[in-house]
Amino acid sequence: MTVTVRFAPSPTGLIHIGNTRTALFNWLFAKQRSGQFILRFDDTDVARSRQDYADAIFRDLEWLGIRPDRIEYQSKRFAAYDAAVERLKKAGLLYACYETAEELELRRKIRLSRRLPPVYGREALKLADAEKATLEREGRKPHWRFLLPNFASDPFETSRTDICWNDIVRGEETVDLASLSDPVLVREDGTYLYTLPSVVDDTDFGVSHIIRGDDHVTNTGVQIALFRALGAEPPAFGHHNLLTTISGEGLSKRTGALSVSGLRESGIEPMAVASLAVLTGTSENIAAVRSLDELAARFDPSHTSKSASKFDPAELDVLNRTLLHGMTFDEVKERLAALGIAGDGAEPFWRAVHGNLDRFSDAAVWWRIISDGPVEKPQLGDDDLGFVRVAFDLLPPEPWDRDTWKVWTDQVKQESGRKGRALFMPLRLALTGRPSGPELADLLPLTGRERILARRP
Ligand code: GLU
Repeated sequence: MTVTVRFAPSPTGLIHIGNTRTALFNWLFAKQRSGQFILRFDDTDVARSRQDYADAIFRDLEWLGIRPDRIEYQSKRFAAYDAAVERLKKAGLLYACYETAEELELRRKIRLSRRLPPVYGREALKLADAEKATLEREGRKPHWRFLLPNFASDPFETSRTDICWNDIVRGEETVDLASLSDPVLVREDGTYLYTLPSVVDDTDFGVSHIIRGDDHVTNTGVQIALFRALGAEPPAFGHHNLLTTISGEGLSKRTGALSVSGLRESGIEPMAVASLAVLTGTSENIAAVRSLDELAARFDPSHTSKSASKFDPAELDVLNRTLLHGMTFDEVKERLAALGIAGDGAEPFWRAVHGNLDRFSDAAVWWRIISDGPVEKPQLGDDDLGFVRVAFDLLPPEPWDRDTWKVWTDQVKQESGRKGRALFMPLRLALTGRPSGPELADLLPLTGRERILARRP
């Protein structure tokens, strides 16, 4: 069987790290099985869906290394959904309801006060054609509910009907259809809720595994029933736990919380995002994994915890640094060239600085410091100023190598009587303008005598 998965965001905002978790779970699952990955835009809500959000989602996935094998838009598939609706209506499985939200709420309260489960009582099923006609003459439009198969012969006598599946993430799962209201599939204005289009698409596109957040577990009971009502074999399901902020709030696409594009713009590496998005809330240690292939080798959906997991953005900085420190020159050569860092000096430069980078773009700052001197003018007190001037006069002649720093500072130490921080810090400040950074032993030969002398204060 070909494994086919899909990631199905609504293009109503930017995707955040929680959506990334869903996308990557699908991608890694498919990758492990040489499967297909479909990007499906759930844009039946035409008013809120936007092409620029769809484009942004595509770009974010691409940046993470996810390249869909196929892209679909639900807004182009209304004919298929309309056909499914007709089939359900003909089979007597989709029925017209006319209640307003207030009426439904009142009934819910009455049921609760009678200690009955607050589910829809299928009152509309009892409406005769003449009654429906009257309601429609009064201007009411129907919304349409799917008759759940939770009864033997009388829909008003429901009985426990367990829908069971072996969840790829959570193991054995059961939803009792008698505990649910018949879901509305079509609103009174004719627009579709998510359930039916999703099931029709999953069938038509041959989706074999639906992997998504565990906020959909209950929907799965309904969807399995709907697959069957439409004569289709339900796919396998997996529901991963959701990520929350440190204070336990859910992430929302609408608020732009921790959006992937925001993280990208702040200079976080894609594999830092992917590592954290996938490994948080699993039994695996969170580590800076260097590629999606490596992540796929570690990924096991059944190692995912069942409860929501807090996600700490500060970890992204740590992972980011670890990734940068582990990158070889060959891996970053082109990215460095794009920053204007090229030529013979580029490789030793990368080796000298990569252990000190928080963000890749910091490399450009160090390149500039080496080429043009401190960005910020060093602030040196009178004592230090005098000391630095003397030290500069003691700079050894070229050629320089990694030992030059020691040779130089040994001599400066002898001449000045300074040692430790009092010796090194003013020199570091004079050379780089910064109190910390790459080893000066590396920076010295990269900079060269002439450029250093030009920095003599
Ligand atoms: N558009 C749905 C969502 O974002 C897709 C859910 C699913 O994967 O079935 O929640």
